[in-house]
Amino acid sequence: MDCLFCSIINGDIPSTKVYEDEMVYAFRDINPQAPTHILVIPKIHIPSVDGIDENNSAVVAHIFECIPKIAKAEGLNGGYRVVSNCGDNACQSVKHLHFHILGGKQLADSMA
Ligand code: AMP
Repeated sequence: MDCLFCSIINGDIPSTKVYEDEMVYAFRDINPQAPTHILVIPKIHIPSVDGIDENNSAVVAHIFECIPKIAKAEGLNGGYRVVSNCGDNACQSVKHLHFHILGGKQLADSMA
């Protein structure tokens, strides 16, 4: 399967890693939209939020255990935003489930 984020997990495409364990990989977004912009992804290929089900939701729970630890390590003490774009109307550009962590400044009030 030709998937950009699977290639990043495999090390075939370079990335700036901020966290890794047996289930999760986190790295800096190549086009940051905030002073801190990190992508947190499962190592298994799930195409989007729409692909989460009872068979794979444990990794999603684990991602949400990792996110506060990553945010703390990044010094996001003032707060941060977690976003996952799902599908074309949400402008999802990479079809491998990912959660954006955005922070390091006062973020916009509007999300859409
Ligand atoms: P989305 O538009 O929600 O699917 O988010 C995809 C994100 O992946 C965008 O914020 C891109 O900047 C980011 N991205 C694309 N290619 C790379 C890459 N090679 N390394 C790091 N981030 C990337």
